[in-house]
Amino acid sequence: MTAKIIDGKTIAQKIREKIKNEIKEFKQKPGLAVILVGNDEASNIYVKNKEKDCQEIGFYSEIHKLPEDISEEKIKELINKLNNSDKIHGIIVQLPLPNHIKEETVINTILPEKDVDGFTYINAGKLFTGNKGLLPCTPAGCIELIKSTGVEIKGKEAVVIGRSNIVGKPMAMLLMQEHATITICHSKTKNLKEITKRADILVAAIGKPKMITEDMVKDGAIIIDVGMNKDENGKLCGDVDFENVKEKVSYITPVPGGVGPMTRAMLMKNTLTAYLNINGGKN
Ligand code: NDP
Repeated sequence: MTAKIIDGKTIAQKIREKIKNEIKEFKQKPGLAVILVGNDEASNIYVKNKEKDCQEIGFYSEIHKLPEDISEEKIKELINKLNNSDKIHGIIVQLPLPNHIKEETVINTILPEKDVDGFTYINAGKLFTGNKGLLPCTPAGCIELIKSTGVEIKGKEAVVIGRSNIVGKPMAMLLMQEHATITICHSKTKNLKEITKRADILVAAIGKPKMITEDMVKDGAIIIDVGMNKDENGKLCGDVDFENVKEKVSYITPVPGGVGPMTRAMLMKNTLTAYLNINGGKN
């Protein structure tokens, strides 16, 4: 069996087009503010991409570039200003932040209604308790990718490798909401292979190049590869050994072109949702 490739790039493009059409007649445009602290190369690229997505769709956007040595207080001041701005409906702080700044404190200054990354305690708590909040973009995108296969999630055995607050944990919660039976694995998990081999749906969010090999996956599984790593030649690659695993499974996301573009698209979708929520569904 050779897997069908889940084309995240095309699915993401469709989501962007749908949003673009939906906001065409809006008198005021949804607005996204991105805060970037310091000069991290990868972060710079991510922020540029977010700005590009906003421009393509027709969102209003503001990029706030702050120096590396800025104080936590100053960032919080800016967030409070954006919390009160009528032009801004979504606020994100590009992570990681410099060591002297406490990420959690900064993130939780964002008004939950404008927390389009879904990282505040309120939105994380809503997800945990099964209430409607803004969802973290990467796991939300992964669910869309799984659904795009047409395979029912309900009753499936799903294994998530990784337990971070931004990917692994919310991913497992979302899969459970879709009625999968979930197992979460991490660096201290024993007999990882025995567990991953049971998975009808396997989500790898580890950060280790090509760690998931063909002997670790079940025949016909759906594989979602969140990892973004550099391989031995400096080329972008996922956590899954794509070339070999694809011969054994039914669906697989590539890296690049899988989860990455969907994460970007879900940020745009969250910004629209935040806008509609803030305006009581009116535009
Ligand atoms: P973290 O480093 O926060 O988490 C990695 C997780 O993997 C941890 O829970 C860790 O376990 C676990 N892990 C590490 N080594 C092993 C191992 N040998 N066996 C089993 N589990 C292991 O990373 P993130 O969750 O932030 O990101 C994961 C990956 O996804 C990265 O490559 C990142 O670049 C990528 N990413 C991609 C995005 C996209 O848009 N495509 C968005 C966000 C992230 P433990 O908790 O025990 O340490």
